[in-house]
Amino acid sequence: MSDIEIPESHPRYQSLLTRHRIEAGVEKGITSNQGLIAQGRGEAFDYLLGEQTIPSADAAERAAAAHLLLADHPVVSVNGNVAALCPAEVGELAEAVGADVEVNLFNRTEERMQAIADHLREHGVDEVKGLTADGRIPGLDHERAKVDADGIRSADVVVVPLEDGDRAEALGEMDKVEIVVDLNPMSRSAQVATVPIVDNIIRALPNITVHAEELSGASCEELEAIVADFDADDALGAAEKAIRSGGDE
Ligand code: ATP
Repeated sequence: MSDIEIPESHPRYQSLLTRHRIEAGVEKGITSNQGLIAQGRGEAFDYLLGEQTIPSADAAERAAAAHLLLADHPVVSVNGNVAALCPAEVGELAEAVGADVEVNLFNRTEERMQAIADHLREHGVDEVKGLTADGRIPGLDHERAKVDADGIRSADVVVVPLEDGDRAEALGEMDKVEIVVDLNPMSRSAQVATVPIVDNIIRALPNITVHAEELSGASCEELEAIVADFDADDALGAAEKAIRSGGDE
């Protein structure tokens, strides 16, 4: 990926880099035009959060790591924005928790599915699911329901960053533990999540990986205690408060 030529000390470096990656993703056929709009919306929320991981998001990331380590079959779902922004970090998280990686698009085309799978492989993700599409999520129309039978369809824990509200609701109804990363605490996806993470995906995924590595020697009881301690409504409330007050919870 060719990144921007501005110094990392620039105060808007992360934000400009993120924008550049999304633009490059559109040029490469990975990110959709709707993905550009989603990016703009996310940036606005992140600006109000102070472009930082607030304490409640860090706690959610730790709870997400505990769920993933307890899972029998965890899957990390990847769409066009996630692939453009943090392909290597998807692979690192999947490796840390033993998860599958599955491409899962709102506007599914075979070309874009293939371009994203190739892009993920170029960034070290060896096995990419989503192209078989032999499973369905009940309650969604045909194209948006498509998943892999041995991937998201049979997963017990799914990480769905930047997911559309309808599909997040339908996945929740399948009794999966749903970990949503979304900068808008009021989005339907965040509201239906078992673990809503109100943080930028570029900070959230590496931080879940750090927590997973720290917790790798923990017992099931310890992991279950972290899961039980987490309260989704409290996390959403804290994030909304931080956004309304400019970064303070
Ligand atoms: P919903 O259907 O869930 O109520 P929505 O219609 O806003 O919400 P989309 O526009 O499809 O959903 O999804 C974009 C969401 O992704 C927005 O809530 C936006 O804040 C979030 N988002 C965009 N970029 C990022 C990012 N880099 N990290 C985390 N979240 C992001």
